Amino acid sequence: MSIADNLRLIKQTIPVNVSLVVVSKTQPVGSIMEAYQSGQRIFGENKVQELTSKQTQLPTDIQWHLLGHLQTNKVKYIAPFVSLIHSVDSLKLLKEIDKEALHHNRTIDCLLEFYIAGEETKFGLSWEEAMEILNSAEFTSLKNIRICGVMGMASFTDDEKTIRTEFKVLVHYFNDLKKTFFADKSYFKEISMGMSSDYPIAIQEGATMVRIGTAVFGQRNYL
Ligand SMILES: *Cc1c(COP(=O)(O)O)cnc(C)c1O
Repeated sequence: MSIADNLRLIKQTIPVNVSLVVVSKTQPVGSIMEAYQSGQRIFGENKVQELTSKQTQLPTDIQWHLLGHLQTNKVKYIAPFVSLIHSVDSLKLLKEIDKEALHHNRTIDCLLEFYIAGEETKFGLSWEEAMEILNSAEFTSLKNIRICGVMGMASFTDDEKTIRTEFKVLVHYFNDLKKTFFADKSYFKEISMGMSSDYPIAIQEGATMVRIGTAVFGQRNYL
């Protein structure tokens, strides 16, 4: 099936109020254009260099999301154009994003990435670490970032119960944060969870944003 066919079928399974981030990491520009030509405008990458390279080659109305771990020294390369950073996992990183956003006279939207999987390999904040950030005076002083919600990745497992439980934890975090810190912030509304293998579960559990690569483009070739 073509990329356009895959996209059409996936979109039929996603409610209109859930955003689809098409994950284009490792995919050539031509494949991304195919998705673009069938109407897709939101793409996600997980490496800064790949993201900036593709951004210069592709149409300017694409909204680029960064999904992968972000080092502070690379924020400056994406700050001029990135539309959402899903992977904020420290105050140091937030401060750098704020500084670069100010430098470019813009506000950069971010999600707090939470560690929800029972696996050592996943990045993300614990609840305690998030509390430390959000309660700090330094956080309150940041004017050029907006925390728009949360992001998380479930375990790589076939066990639906485990995945569902992990997504429920993320939703619980979202609700607690909304109540405690963002009750009056209408932009705090995103729950980014669900990938090719588990997005239907994520949507059932309350995802507002799903990140799908393989189901659109087929298996990735890591060169
Ligand atoms: C690669 C990636 C995805 C997409 O994974 P697929 O299984 O190809 O859909 C989603 N989120 C993040 C953070 C990723 O790195």
